[in-house]
Amino acid sequence: MQLTGSQLIGNQLSKQGSKTFTGFRADSGEALPTVFHEATAEEVDGAVELANEAFETYRKKSGAEKAVFLERIAEEILALGDELIGTASEETALPAARLTGERGRTVNQLKLFAQVVREGSWVNARIDTAVPDRQPAPKPDLRQMLIPLGTVGVFGASNFPFAFSVAGGDTVSALAAGCPVVFKGHPAHPATSELVGRAIGQAVRATGMPEGVFSLVHGASTDVGMRLVGHPLVKAIGFTGSYRGGKALFDAAGQRPEPIPVYAEMSSTNPVFFLPRILKERGDLATALAGSVTLGVGQFCTNPGVFVVDQSEEATQFIHRTAAALNAIMPAPMLTAGIRRAYLAGIRAQQTVAGTASLTDFSEEMVKTHLLQTTVGNALQHPHLTDEVFGPSTVGVVADNPADRLRFARSLPGHLTATVWGTDQDLAENVELIEVLKQKVGRLLINDFPTGVEVTYAMTHGGPFPATTDSRTTSVGTLAIERFCRPISFQNFPPFLLPDELKEENPLKISRLVNGKRQS
Ligand code: NAP
Repeated sequence: MQLTGSQLIGNQLSKQGSKTFTGFRADSGEALPTVFHEATAEEVDGAVELANEAFETYRKKSGAEKAVFLERIAEEILALGDELIGTASEETALPAARLTGERGRTVNQLKLFAQVVREGSWVNARIDTAVPDRQPAPKPDLRQMLIPLGTVGVFGASNFPFAFSVAGGDTVSALAAGCPVVFKGHPAHPATSELVGRAIGQAVRATGMPEGVFSLVHGASTDVGMRLVGHPLVKAIGFTGSYRGGKALFDAAGQRPEPIPVYAEMSSTNPVFFLPRILKERGDLATALAGSVTLGVGQFCTNPGVFVVDQSEEATQFIHRTAAALNAIMPAPMLTAGIRRAYLAGIRAQQTVAGTASLTDFSEEMVKTHLLQTTVGNALQHPHLTDEVFGPSTVGVVADNPADRLRFARSLPGHLTATVWGTDQDLAENVELIEVLKQKVGRLLINDFPTGVEVTYAMTHGGPFPATTDSRTTSVGTLAIERFCRPISFQNFPPFLLPDELKEENPLKISRLVNGKRQS
């Protein structure tokens, strides 16, 4: 497909701006041929205004109609075939097999949300029937459900060019909720973004959805994103990316005259605690940890960037075996030159801290894995040691004893995940550790590794700040739909004015809470 380098504003291709940029081959740094035009302020405004017009129609679409639309997007993405995988591989240096898997996950995510809206119970319908003769005053008929907020601005990350990008979790959950999306493309994969954006456009036209329900704007500077966040017709923001980016957008939204929710999913180091007995029993854990640290060249938000062991002979051997396993993993190109620079700078900053030891043969010349060893005392004194260094690195923190380990756990800021590895006896003796970690994360794992986020009904991909700006929800899994809705109550409505979800006869046959009792 011939790439255009344009914004996709509804059905229009638009490139009015004079600021341009290109993508790069991630493996060689060579500039790619398509010239992309950064969106002008007018183009961003035009996309938002069109989305706002589309909302008037789109918000009234039935669950069945939205399901057909989401399924069609999945089909159109698959129809891009090898061209999509080849383009994304060129822009990210991620191997075709990994990208094919990620495309499958993205398509399944679309189908899962289609299933959710077709089934319909997600609107959380609640009905309190009237009691006209209640004393001292009659009780009114009240019926509540979730309705969409309006236009959503979405920002994707560079490390998942499909699953957290143009047709990723934020876009699909917003569209499923009934909200139009204006997507700010990530400049690390503009060609991939254009291909997926055009697939969504095809689906819009093929299923008769209103023009403007989806638009894609490009930008290699922060101007485009800031314009989108500040637009008065934008009613919510979904963001996946760095702490720096997410916090800047959250703060910018805070300056708006009208506050809006900003769901920023940011960085995390996903601490993993190895308890003493499991280290004696499981000789394979060092290799498994090294595999998780280096998955996708370590460029995963769920990468285990910190692990904790209690001081012992087994722990020393475990750390050295992990370092050896990491050393054996060949260097690989990172997503962008900027991410590579940040990785090297992050490791350098860790290495300058006294009381740490680098256990891998890290080199500035190429992106190699890194394991830094330190103590709880040192980690508490230098909190940046356990900040995210995005890439194939991890920090092994050695605790003097279980109390020291607990002290470290209590000091942790919010993370996406935490993991505890232990035998049954280890776990029974460390219930307090698990209790502490519950307060810190969105997903708590036992005897598993955090990399790999299932897209399901029960997934929480979120966590307390600074992992996200709103810990009450998730960006992966079906609960994500609720971020882009609000509850509304209808009081004393005549039946003909009620939405189908709240009609007495329950024509959609959805699960509802009627007078406090679940009816399914
Ligand atoms: P990024 O640099 O923050 O970029 C994300 C998007 O935000 C881009 O479109 C970027 O556009 C925009 N942006 C960044 N700073 C901005 C600012 N100040 N104003 C306006 N827009 C701004 O993130 P990345 O490099 O793609 O991704 C790597 C990070 O994402 C890692 O920290 C990783 O852990 C995290 N991540 C988190 C999750 C999660 O679910 N929590 C998932 C995947 C990745 P410009 O480049 O044009 O500024």
